[in-house]
Amino acid sequence: MAGIYLHIPFCKRRCLYCDFYSTTEGRLRGAYIRALCRELADRKDYLHGEPVETLYFGGGTPSQLLPEDFRKLFDTLYQLYDIDPNAEITLEANPDDLTEAYIGQLADLPFNRLSIGIQTFDEGLLQTLNRRHTAAQAVTAFHHCRQAGFGNISIDLMYGLPDETEEQWQHDLETATALRPEHISAYHLIYEEGTPLWQLREAHRVTEANEELSLAMFTRLMRHLRQNGYEHYEISNFCLPGCHSRHNSSYWTGQHYLGCGPSAHSYDGNTRRWNVSSLSEYLTSVQQGRPFHETETLDLPTRYNDFIITSLRTCWGLSLQQLRCRFGTRLYDYCLKMAAPHIARGHLTKKDEDVLVLTEQGIFISDGIMSDLLWVE
Ligand code: SF4
Repeated sequence: MAGIYLHIPFCKRRCLYCDFYSTTEGRLRGAYIRALCRELADRKDYLHGEPVETLYFGGGTPSQLLPEDFRKLFDTLYQLYDIDPNAEITLEANPDDLTEAYIGQLADLPFNRLSIGIQTFDEGLLQTLNRRHTAAQAVTAFHHCRQAGFGNISIDLMYGLPDETEEQWQHDLETATALRPEHISAYHLIYEEGTPLWQLREAHRVTEANEELSLAMFTRLMRHLRQNGYEHYEISNFCLPGCHSRHNSSYWTGQHYLGCGPSAHSYDGNTRRWNVSSLSEYLTSVQQGRPFHETETLDLPTRYNDFIITSLRTCWGLSLQQLRCRFGTRLYDYCLKMAAPHIARGHLTKKDEDVLVLTEQGIFISDGIMSDLLWVE
């Protein structure tokens, strides 16, 4: 099983917190679609013919593309790759792009999952973040997607926003669960260096949530979603039973994936590769047949570290038997030795004697636990 990620690097305007690669130069859309099709063709052997079970259009803002752009990309994908008839095909979308007319056009394309970037239902906080939609637009867009027949919808939320209170977060959670999306991703705001929001914090014009508040919000998140029937299957991801994101889960379970477009990452089991984070450089390089990526060959300790970080994030946990088979007795013993104090403190537990999983207490300090288990030369 393999996945394909297509990066769509266009945004109508930039949100203040964002450090994903994107540009507001929408006029390059046509040239970009041609280049993306060419990259898909040039790299058609990357997955060695493995069946593709997930396709993910991420960004940027993929909903800035037109239906004819998607048609060209799907034609190329279906011609060149072995796409499973039951593949999960996700489109990330911004609420204000999801007009009734646009959703109707999307429903005629192969998409069967939508991921809507709502972030918050609080008007003031949406403005603080420079989001371009309102809370009402988000709710309307969601209902229109349902009416158009989309039965698998994810929404993205953020918490720990500047000056956000627990009550505002509770309101977001209640509004979100009232919509009953199949999937909810909820991330704590990160002040990424160099972003406008980071500069505002440096200038003391916004206040970062303190640790106590962040913890209280995370606790509310877990409790509220659990009470409403959502499974907490990854640190930041929740779903109704059976509705986990197959694409993201494939990253956490070590499946191979091809990533196309500027800044996209790929993984074939032995190497990791990432494309240049510049649309102009990408377009020129693809046209001229020049390389536009860097590659890292993954040695055994790096693959072990990746395995620790990705598997411990999920409710499926870290299989010790798999760890021994893939990385040998030395790293297996090391992992058990480093995990022992966390098991004793109740941060990690053993499921079925073979699988290490984070406990609810452990989830709060997951970064520290993972870093303790990593192999450092
Ligand atoms: S729309 Fe998404 S990708 Fe674009 S700037 Fe905002 S958060 Fe970043």
